[in-house]
Amino acid sequence: MIVKTYKFKLYRAKRNRFLHQQIDIAGIIWNHCSALHRRDYRLTGKHLNQYELMAHIAKLKQRPRYAFWNLVGSQAIQDIVQRIDRSYTLFFRNLKAGVTPKPSPPGFRKVKKYSSFTLKQAGWKLLGGNRVKIQGRIYKFSKSRDIPADVKTLTIKRDNLGALWLYFVVEVAEDQSNQVLSGNSAGFDFGLKAFLTTDTGDVIESPLYYRQAMAELKLAQQNLSRKVKGSHGWRKAKLIVARIQQRVVNKRRDFFFKLAHTLTDQYDRLYFEDLNMKGMQRLWGRKVGDLARSEFLGILKYVAGSKGTVVHLVDRFYPSSKTCSDCGWVYQGLKLSERQWGCANCGVLHDRDQNAASNIRREGASSLGLGEVRPDRPAFAV
Ligand SMILES: [Zn+2]
Repeated sequence: MIVKTYKFKLYRAKRNRFLHQQIDIAGIIWNHCSALHRRDYRLTGKHLNQYELMAHIAKLKQRPRYAFWNLVGSQAIQDIVQRIDRSYTLFFRNLKAGVTPKPSPPGFRKVKKYSSFTLKQAGWKLLGGNRVKIQGRIYKFSKSRDIPADVKTLTIKRDNLGALWLYFVVEVAEDQSNQVLSGNSAGFDFGLKAFLTTDTGDVIESPLYYRQAMAELKLAQQNLSRKVKGSHGWRKAKLIVARIQQRVVNKRRDFFFKLAHTLTDQYDRLYFEDLNMKGMQRLWGRKVGDLARSEFLGILKYVAGSKGTVVHLVDRFYPSSKTCSDCGWVYQGLKLSERQWGCANCGVLHDRDQNAASNIRREGASSLGLGEVRPDRPAFAV
């Protein structure tokens, strides 16, 4: 089974304020739950049980002071509790594993930034045409395609321009009909300069239109930073930044999908380093580049799933850059600035990224039990 998301924009309407209100309340509930988790951790050092938390919220909702929480469906509240619980599970796992730096508990999100709520089967219904009923009210959306019958969840999301979107998540059977296997495999390394390098030395750069949008974003952000916070000019500049940011996100997604299709057409097995990103972004505030990479891997796996292609991730602690792909010697002293290095054992000169990609490919193939032999690619000697 693969998971597909169908995204539609809600028409602007006065009644959308009810959805905005529910999103705001969901944010308040998030903060409340988050605070309880933090307090429990501070006092006991333990993980607050999610079922106890649900029971506690059910009681709170009976009190007049918290009655407004009932405006958000109970499934949406359950979803919030589960989401926080997942981030805490990861936090405790990292704590136990002794990762450095020591992780800090998942933080608060400002209500303003909290921008969605999710319903499962209850609390909403698709009506005929482009209408959807959410918590008893009917809304219209721009229906650009049909939605399959078995929707698992509906998320109502507010973007940073204040528009509302519907995300229908559907599980569909994998389509094997267009499976064409080429028999090729390749290892890939995410580079500092190039987006990807293959084990044969092919370099994949991010496209010009994406780099241009990024440059535009940087300018707009600089412009914003020069404004007086809260002023009219500041608000205007902020809106411009938000617009460009959205364009950057769209362009990047477009590039990732195109690249995923190209690569899955070309190769049957693709090996990458496991970035192990899920949830960590919230814990440590990773760099944008890392987020983009994990987004790409997500898209690649999704595209691969529909074509019968294997995307295999290699343990991220495998020293892919430092290991000589010809003889296995490990260059412990490799610095980030060294784009090329010579092997002290066998004398081969390596391009850093290509060497890493070769190792990722071999490591991936051997962990799949395919046991590929060392490539007999001619290596240029020092
Ligand atoms: Zn060597």
